[in-house]
Amino acid sequence: MVVVVVVVVVVVDVDGRGRERRSDCGYDFAVHVAVAVHVRVNAHVNAHAHAPTSLFVEPLRIDAAAMTAHPPHVVDVDVVVIGAGVVGLACAAALAPHHDVVVIERHRRAGTETSSRNSGVIHAGLHYPPGSRKARACVEGRRRLYAYAAARGIPHRRTGKLVLAVERSEVPSLQAIEERARANGVEELTWLDRDALAAREPELRAALSLHVGESGIVDAHALMDALKADARDAGARFVFGHTVVALEPAAHELQVLARDERHEESVVRARVVVNAAGHGADRIASACGVDVDARGWRQHPWVGRYFGLSASAPRPIMPLVYPMPAVGGLGVHLTRDLGGQTLAGPDASPLERLADGTWPPLDVDLTLRDAFARGVARYLPRLRAEHLTPAYAGVRPKLRADGSFADFVIDETPRGVVHLLGIESPGLTASLALAAEVSELVAVRG
Ligand SMILES: Cc1cc2nc3c(=O)[nH]c(=O)nc-3n(C[C@H](O)[C@H](O)[C@H](O)COP(=O)(O)OP(=O)(O)OC[C@H]3O[C@@H](n4cnc5c(N)ncnc54)[C@H](O)[C@@H]3O)c2cc1C
Repeated sequence: MVVVVVVVVVVVDVDGRGRERRSDCGYDFAVHVAVAVHVRVNAHVNAHAHAPTSLFVEPLRIDAAAMTAHPPHVVDVDVVVIGAGVVGLACAAALAPHHDVVVIERHRRAGTETSSRNSGVIHAGLHYPPGSRKARACVEGRRRLYAYAAARGIPHRRTGKLVLAVERSEVPSLQAIEERARANGVEELTWLDRDALAAREPELRAALSLHVGESGIVDAHALMDALKADARDAGARFVFGHTVVALEPAAHELQVLARDERHEESVVRARVVVNAAGHGADRIASACGVDVDARGWRQHPWVGRYFGLSASAPRPIMPLVYPMPAVGGLGVHLTRDLGGQTLAGPDASPLERLADGTWPPLDVDLTLRDAFARGVARYLPRLRAEHLTPAYAGVRPKLRADGSFADFVIDETPRGVVHLLGIESPGLTASLALAAEVSELVAVRG
């Protein structure tokens, strides 16, 4: 039996530009006015058995009387973007001026997963093999990000950063980083020997260091707010609190099945689907028939934890100070955010799932404090464990279980479904470049 439930979401709250919005429980519903026809089915939705089932998201001014006078009609969209992290938002902002876009996000607001649990560093492009998508997207994304942040008034600073060969034995590795950086198009690279570093940074010690002028910091939340506003201003609509659970090819389009918090199921029909689901991206790929193990697309969570430095802690003058990279990450480094808080981290280790497949709580355990302090004290000798307070943790979606290098994946399989997988660091820096690549792929679809 099929029960049709009509749900009306009226969005109020007028912002400065006279748009209809609503702040609901502290989150921003970016849909103008959504009229959703939910089709509840007792068993799993079978698009063929129940065709045509649709979620109709229709921008219109509406009140109760208008509702009955103008029943909703079907509006198939051009593009569904799954996931409202920084990458999905950047894709929506790039696509919305040219296509009818709906973004589906499982949480009640944008950017609550990896995009808000990172270091907020604009990476220069030092660490990725020349020619890789990571290298290209980092360098191109960094250029785009500085320009976008300046144009949109997003808080950011081009701080530069220091990479340290703490011991002489690490010097060849730092020299290799410099060569790779130049090959990737990083230009502002300056060597500092031990004395030059001591003159500039009395708290730091290293045998040799590399100053990188292009690195910086951005307010990731302000970036996501700007991207969401740009997408919305160009007509994109946002459906929060809906998890995409299936994706099926139909005659001339794709049917995206989403389930809300009350387990009501809806279907959006789209010509193209962009899978920017972060940690959920491999599940979405599996859901449309891709053998993720055969393709090397299974994502492995690697946690990165941070400690905050207390007010009495020694600290460098430069906000960004990195040792040599470690397996799975960039080594326990120091970053100072735009509010002046200095953080040590993240470390990098595989995250063991619980028996039911979910993640354990991402608490930062005090037992790690000594190891963090020892790591940082190698180059900031006056740092003690007592200077460190547990902060937060983020999780990287890695394509290799052992944490070794794997490139970002952007791939269209099957036709019309564009997947982004393994979008770990430098995904924040690269977001605008990844979105430009996705946008080109979608444009080819006509
Ligand atoms: C510890 C750490 C430090 C980092 N530091 C930096 C840094 O300094 N600089 C840098 O450039 N990068 C950094 N990164 C990387 C950067 O944070 C990520 O690459 C980037 O945020 C990924 O964005 P995303 O949109 O792909 O993923 P996410 O932010 O995870 O967004 C994916 C969204 O998809 C949604 N979703 C998932 N499944 C579904 C579904 N089935 N239906 C609907 N919605 C779904 C999720 O709820 C989520 O909101 C760091 C990452 C980590 C973990």
